[in-house]
Amino acid sequence: MRHRARQFHPRVQFYVWAEVPGASREVVLTEEQAAGFTNATADAVIGEALGVSGPTYRRWVDRDGRPQCGGVTRTGKPCEHGVGPSRQDLESFVPKDRRMLCAIHRDMRDRENVIELHGRKARSNGPV
Ligand SMILES: [Zn+2]
Repeated sequence: MRHRARQFHPRVQFYVWAEVPGASREVVLTEEQAAGFTNATADAVIGEALGVSGPTYRRWVDRDGRPQCGGVTRTGKPCEHGVGPSRQDLESFVPKDRRMLCAIHRDMRDRENVIELHGRKARSNGPV
């Protein structure tokens, strides 16, 4: 069998070594993204390459991939507790961040539901 010379198609690819929760990894950039990449635009460009906004990407890294509770404290401030483990994938982090409740707020919500249910039960005139 004869060996045929392989055709070689040179191709430029752009990567950035991006910070991710607990580590860093290569993120592939388009030519346009690479051209617009500076330290000032890093979060926005990496976020775009990962399919989210710059602030969402930064938040994911800064929170070590742990979504924040969507509950509010007695003083009216956002609850700082995390939901689930740290270092969750971006795809897992985004839908949970500030949309799910920590164990304490879940417990409070469940107790409020019980009170509501009891209230409804008390108001009802017949068997429930
Ligand atoms: Zn909470």
